[in-house]
Amino acid sequence: MDIKDMRPETLLAQAGGAIDAQSGGVVPPIQPATTFVRDKNYKPLNSDNVYARPHNDVVRQAEGVLAQLEGGAAGLLFPSGMAAIAALFRTVPTGARVIIQSGIYWNTTKWVRDFCERRQIDVDEVDASDAAALADVCAKGPANIVWVETPSNPWLKITDVAAAKKAAGSCGALLAVDSTAASPVLTNPLKLGADIVMHSTTKVINGHSDVLGGVLITKEITPVWEEIETDRASAGAVMGPFEAWLLLRGMRTMALRVERMVDNAMKIADYLADHPKVDSVLYPGLEGHAGHDLAKAQMPGGYGFLMSFLVKGDRETALQVAGKMKLFHRATSLGGVESLVEHRYTIEPHTGIPETLLRISVGAEHADDLIADLGQALGQ
Ligand SMILES: *Cc1c(COP(=O)(O)O)cnc(C)c1O
Repeated sequence: MDIKDMRPETLLAQAGGAIDAQSGGVVPPIQPATTFVRDKNYKPLNSDNVYARPHNDVVRQAEGVLAQLEGGAAGLLFPSGMAAIAALFRTVPTGARVIIQSGIYWNTTKWVRDFCERRQIDVDEVDASDAAALADVCAKGPANIVWVETPSNPWLKITDVAAAKKAAGSCGALLAVDSTAASPVLTNPLKLGADIVMHSTTKVINGHSDVLGGVLITKEITPVWEEIETDRASAGAVMGPFEAWLLLRGMRTMALRVERMVDNAMKIADYLADHPKVDSVLYPGLEGHAGHDLAKAQMPGGYGFLMSFLVKGDRETALQVAGKMKLFHRATSLGGVESLVEHRYTIEPHTGIPETLLRISVGAEHADDLIADLGQALGQ
């Protein structure tokens, strides 16, 4: 069966059909060589491989699976999610304008602000989950990139990708979507109109909290895409073969992991929403969530594994609840098979995060065990 015809579950379980043709192994080999030999006429033995900085076979395999999953023309892996984001923004010329969603992954906001200040690029920040507000900002004049994140981390706001594409198109910008909290299993932004989709593969794509990585996937090969590709090779921001191999292995179970995590998250959201010591729950799966209907349309497989909730009380109460948790590890990051909890105010006290907000990344454990842990920590 051709890779193009595989359903996501098949594509992932078989790692896009990557086997070791030489040994017959059912998993692909790792080729750690940094350089590759030429024959006596100076022709490379394998024209794909000359030097390891531009590329590597197992990196290409992982990129191929991710591009196919998202319905894109090509993908590029980077050593971290931030390196992928930086690679895209570095294509914006001095004096231009970019529009980014407010209230997104804090380090994206921080890096984009710093970078654009150095480059004298104007940055407009807008709550893109409000489609009219985004359209207004776009109408102010030309821009190069509209950057949205859906669901957003840690506010769990849902942005209408098709509407954002219309707004971006109106000011000549390309629409890039950080889909890390959705995963390629639950949403395919390129199919909804986005030009580029980005994931921190550190999160649910790898899923085991042991590989740092990031990916950009493009709908079409454009001059901007070629610039990113050339710059990655020359500036040397490629993922290493060991990381790509681990990533490809982790990805094999992504569909299964996401299915369980989403199921657990929905049960936990329902539990927390009814809990007397919880003030509110931010999770798009709940009917009362402002983006619920949109999420239902954009995330047909479920509402993700990330959620935030506000405990009744103050900062101390929230820290005590987190402190009492036994199964949820108190750690940053998300998307691994183990559940995590984070008091975001401790990390980003200056961004307007409520002091009582706890963000959880729901793992693949048994839902009843996780609910019991939350129950004892909240104190029933
Ligand atoms: C973690 C994360 C990133 C950054 O990825 P790294 O791999 O940590 O560099 C970007 N966006 C979102 C939504 C994230 O959760």
